[in-house]
Amino acid sequence: MAAPIQALDKTVVDRIAAGEVIERPANALKELVENALDAGSSSISVVVKGGGLKVLQITDNGHGIRLDDFPLVCQRFATSKLTTFDDLKSIGTFGFRGEALASISHVAHVTITSKTPEAQCAFAGSFADGKLLGKAKPTAGNTGTTIKVEDLFYNVKTRRKALKSTSEEFNRVLDVLTRYALRNAGVAFSLKKFGDTRAVLNTQTGASVKDNIALLYGTELSRELLRIDVPAANEYGASVAGFVSNANYSSKKEVSVLFVNSRSVDVPSVRKAIKALFSEYLPKKAHPFVYLDIALPPETVDVNVHPTKKQVHFMHEDEIVSLITDAIRAALLDANASRTFYSQA
Ligand code: ADP
Ligand code: MG
Repeated sequence: MAAPIQALDKTVVDRIAAGEVIERPANALKELVENALDAGSSSISVVVKGGGLKVLQITDNGHGIRLDDFPLVCQRFATSKLTTFDDLKSIGTFGFRGEALASISHVAHVTITSKTPEAQCAFAGSFADGKLLGKAKPTAGNTGTTIKVEDLFYNVKTRRKALKSTSEEFNRVLDVLTRYALRNAGVAFSLKKFGDTRAVLNTQTGASVKDNIALLYGTELSRELLRIDVPAANEYGASVAGFVSNANYSSKKEVSVLFVNSRSVDVPSVRKAIKALFSEYLPKKAHPFVYLDIALPPETVDVNVHPTKKQVHFMHEDEIVSLITDAIRAALLDANASRTFYSQA
């Protein structure tokens, strides 16, 4: 006999939805870093314990959260970024769904301390299941925001079990921060393990992308870089800026740092096309270093194909891939030509 259909309890539904948006500490951190950058921060520091599963804390010096907004920050589909855009469509295309903090609060204990430049003091509040618990309380603090996420997936036993290795989670956290530190050179990023005095990652205010490549990926690589620069003056309005390694350099590990409209994403078509191109220049099993910052007209990008926004789709993908590989091929040929020139001279 068929069992009657029952609607799931709302807290269960919310928790399932949250678990789709927040997969692990690294992608929770990605959302928190993006928020800190959206708030105009020039300094972002992260402290983690247990690979970010026990504690994931991020402090920024951005514009802060107004006291009046405390009850709303962790509410699903609540965003302050609507007003920054002309219409709802551009909100959709930039992926501001007001979902990140809400999701995190459904699967972890969240504490937020924040101060706007106008406020006399900072305020702190604790959150659970999308709601502020009690009232935000006045406290000491600088302008900016600290978000502390504790015991991630404490209420999702299966997920917690699946994330066994804290060192694996820590490496993923480090990877996310490395990418954002590279893309946002000039903003000071730091990452520390709880209780350690030494930072694992530490970039400086005012550093250039090249400075950060040297710092984060090694000085050897930084001497073998080719600049890629495709201005937006093409029919797709696509611009591409970044660096790739030249034919002298190769790595055992694939390093592909791709950003689309300031968000770190994987674009398999771009990654694969570049891989094929470099296979003409590098020995088998050797990889180049690739960092590309791609800017596309927002209405041509769909960021809502995946709950975690880790992949995007965009229009004219094949043509834009060719634009990118043409620019890299030209840079490689150019470097090759000048090398032969110098060696002959
Ligand atoms: P979204 O970024 O899509 O708006 P989030 O859930 O990530 O949604 O954040 C909700 C809101 O909380 C943001 O719109 C913003 O107003 C506020 N917020 C979150 N993090 C910060 C921060 N670090 N500094 C200032 N405001 C923040
Ligand atoms: Mg956000």
